[in-house]
Amino acid sequence: MAFLPFYIPGQKRLNVVIVGGGYAGIAALTVLSHYASNIDIVIIDPRDQHIKITHLHETFRYPLSDFLVPFSELEHRFGCRHISATLTLDENVLQQWQKDKTLVVNGEELAFDYLLIASSCETNASDHLENVRSLDDFLTLAGSDLLSSFLLKNDKQAPFISVVGGGATGIQFLFELKQFLDRQKIKSKLRLINSGDRVLEQFPKEFSSYVQLRMHDLGIDFYPNTYCKEQQVDKILLEEKQTGKQFELPSNLSLMFLGKKQGKLFVANSFGQVMINHITLHNIFAAGDCCYYNSFGSNALTAQSAVRKGKLAARNILRHSGTLKLLEPYLHRDIGYVVSLGSADAVGWLVSTGNVITGIPALAIKELVESQYDFLLMGIDTYLV
Ligand SMILES: Cc1cc2nc3c(=O)[nH]c(=O)nc-3n(C[C@H](O)[C@H](O)[C@H](O)COP(=O)(O)OP(=O)(O)OC[C@H]3O[C@@H](n4cnc5c(N)ncnc54)[C@H](O)[C@@H]3O)c2cc1C
Repeated sequence: MAFLPFYIPGQKRLNVVIVGGGYAGIAALTVLSHYASNIDIVIIDPRDQHIKITHLHETFRYPLSDFLVPFSELEHRFGCRHISATLTLDENVLQQWQKDKTLVVNGEELAFDYLLIASSCETNASDHLENVRSLDDFLTLAGSDLLSSFLLKNDKQAPFISVVGGGATGIQFLFELKQFLDRQKIKSKLRLINSGDRVLEQFPKEFSSYVQLRMHDLGIDFYPNTYCKEQQVDKILLEEKQTGKQFELPSNLSLMFLGKKQGKLFVANSFGQVMINHITLHNIFAAGDCCYYNSFGSNALTAQSAVRKGKLAARNILRHSGTLKLLEPYLHRDIGYVVSLGSADAVGWLVSTGNVITGIPALAIKELVESQYDFLLMGIDTYLV
């Protein structure tokens, strides 16, 4: 077994339950199985596969199966057990679990020494009409299949497609969709509706100018400061943010990327232990988008932060179970973020947000970061920080 500083294992076999097999949960799994031999790990996740969700927009080019890793494979690789279930999580439930050190899943009682909550946070849902699609739809169907079946059913020569939401997810889908339509020689009218006055508002202004220029070059219409009220049969109802004036545009399909709900986050101390009403639940940790750490580290809703929180929580679970109980605080800062703009372009920052990079160099960095995660999934940890 590899050596983890400040971890002197106890005699007892350790039971760890991880709720959520996404980026944070899987990162934690790799650390636990790397440093501990005397351990049983259970992953609870309703899906059959781990989804490399940061690639989802690429399913306009590649099959969805390229980005799925069956939990059965991970069970084999990391010696864990997967249970397919959705747990209802709230503060009362966590307090009860901390007391009982047992939870019930699919009628089975699971005793644990430590529980890690890594269930992400909910995405903002939208009305689900036949011609409205959101991120959840892309979790089960590749972008290319989704679009092709829509076009087949609706038999439109030149459909109007509205993408709603100019955050990182909306933008990545928008450019992939544009390239897909061009490859298929479909003369669609594509537009982006955004409630803010610029796209990628959480990033430096250079990001927005670069992306908006590229949208203009590609003939994608942009409606800033505009709320989407409703996609109807063949039109979309919009509202100007400043004046409240409503107007309609022809639209056959809307793709909604409205971001994540910030409301239901668990709060954790700087070691990753959940805190409720200022009381620490010593055996319940949290990691990833579902939690906010009270520390200097990054709480960004990114895969990078999710992986770092997952790894830190796992190290601290092991240390807490050992004799020293010396835990490590979460200090990770994201060192960059790249938004891809189709297969051959991207915009991002590296080291500091002022250092903006575009084009192939930005794309190369994104590839590098993604490969690092692929290595981790194979059990090879190349993360230096
Ligand atoms: C299209 C797209 C592109 C992105 N690109 C990037 C990028 O380039 N770089 C970057 O840093 N970030 C990116 N992100 C953000 C990144 O994917 C998330 O920040 C990251 O996935 C969060 O990891 P997580 O483990 O918290 O949640 P997830 O990876 O979402 O995993 C959560 C898991 O928990 C399971 N689950 C949910 N609820 C329950 C429950 N109640 N019980 C049991 N299991 C449950 C889910 O099935 C899921 O498997 C992107 C996101 C999207 C959608």
